[in-house]
Amino acid sequence: RKPLLIVEGLKKYYPQRGSVIGKNRPVIHAVDGVDLEIYEGETLGIVGESGCGKSTIGRQIVALERPTSGRIIYQGQVISDMASSNLRKIRTGLQMVFQDTTSSLNPRKQVYDILAAPMLYHGIVTRDRLDEEINKLLELVGLSKNMKYRYPHEFSGGQRQRIGIAKALSVKPRLIVCDEPVSALDVSVQAQILNLLKQLQEELKLTYVFIAHGLGAVRYVSNRIAIMYLGKIVEIAETKELFDNPVHPYTKALFDASPLPDPSLRKRERIVLKGEIPSAIQPPKGCRFHTRCPYAIESCKVNDPDLLAIRFGSNHKAACPVMQAGGER
Ligand code: SF4
Ligand code: MG
Repeated sequence: RKPLLIVEGLKKYYPQRGSVIGKNRPVIHAVDGVDLEIYEGETLGIVGESGCGKSTIGRQIVALERPTSGRIIYQGQVISDMASSNLRKIRTGLQMVFQDTTSSLNPRKQVYDILAAPMLYHGIVTRDRLDEEINKLLELVGLSKNMKYRYPHEFSGGQRQRIGIAKALSVKPRLIVCDEPVSALDVSVQAQILNLLKQLQEELKLTYVFIAHGLGAVRYVSNRIAIMYLGKIVEIAETKELFDNPVHPYTKALFDASPLPDPSLRKRERIVLKGEIPSAIQPPKGCRFHTRCPYAIESCKVNDPDLLAIRFGSNHKAACPVMQAGGER
């Protein structure tokens, strides 16, 4: 299988917001060396606490931002250093659905204009077919075409997210980064939006990157899941494998903190996360998780572990030599 998109050695550093410009300006290491392959038609979940860099990866993937170093390769083309004029064509393939529809949908525009703008900008339809195309989009996301002359505030949160999805679909993308698309919604509405995303994926042969801080929604929609901690991926595996056989202590801690029934809990001690996630300005040396890890040994404070296959040839990878040495499971 050839990946649709490759993330290679991605780093994204930026100055802390509101800090004074100058030599000693604090730098946030938002993403600090991430490699990923995203395959056509799959959903790759990315999970981690807020501030772990997952949204930053999402923005680099859809070329909303440029990496500090590393590359994003889409359909064999390096897009991370492409001139803006060439990116315009690429952007129709790579779209994003945001958590916060109050800022992603212009409150002063009717749904009609919200959907028309990207299609006209990218030359997806001619003006005479615009109306028909907008009706189709609304129908696709489960809204009525009569709703197109309303404003975003006239809709419920769930309906607004449907409009956000329609806007992403309007330019006929192949890959959509869904950044916490249901986190702001009532629990009763979340399943409807997740099912809509799944149904659209099948119908339109879409590839998703699904970003979330909790495991519930990610487990439901993802084929594979990457767990992030302080700018790095600490574990990645197919969804079932990850839940059946978590290796990294941080992954286990996340499972233990979530209300999901976890059969592996019966076999081992619960891991309770102590303390806050450390600052991404000066991440801990060695394994970044050592300040909170109950299994940390001296060498963890020095050696920064690589993400390695847990068995030869396995596509389940983890970044913890202590667990991989065959000890605690
Ligand atoms: Fe814990 Fe050490 Fe493994 Fe890091 S490398 S997760 S500190 S045991
Ligand atoms: Mg975020």
